[in-house]
Amino acid sequence: MVTMTLASLLGGLAPGVLDTGTLISPGEARRLAAEHGLIPVVLGTKSEVLDVGSKARFHTQAMRIGLRVQHRTCTVQGCTVPAAWCHAHHKTPWALSRRTSLADGTLVCGPHHRKIHHPAYTTTYDPGGTTHLTRTRR
Ligand SMILES: [Zn+2]
Repeated sequence: MVTMTLASLLGGLAPGVLDTGTLISPGEARRLAAEHGLIPVVLGTKSEVLDVGSKARFHTQAMRIGLRVQHRTCTVQGCTVPAAWCHAHHKTPWALSRRTSLADGTLVCGPHHRKIHHPAYTTTYDPGGTTHLTRTRR
């Protein structure tokens, strides 16, 4: 379990907190949410649970197969990691769209997936299916 603010989930810089009490970077917390799904829990000012969301989101097996057919490798420009070793990624953050679809999905390797969810990088997707990562902060 990871606790983080909504602002941090959407790209902010506050760390996530594991249920062991260990702090993790906001990028790592976002990557975990993207790979393993999330169930939103709303906390009050004294950390009391006010609401628990109902649905985690994942790409279905059929969507993952569809992505592998569309993309033979990681979609980041120049990357040759085979599709079989890649993660399905939501181009529109699930926290914003609340939807999972083949059209909004892409494949990225583990190292590039970590960069996509790192606040120092900006990600763009071109219509041809290529993902572009640009370091925009230190
Ligand atoms: Zn890659």
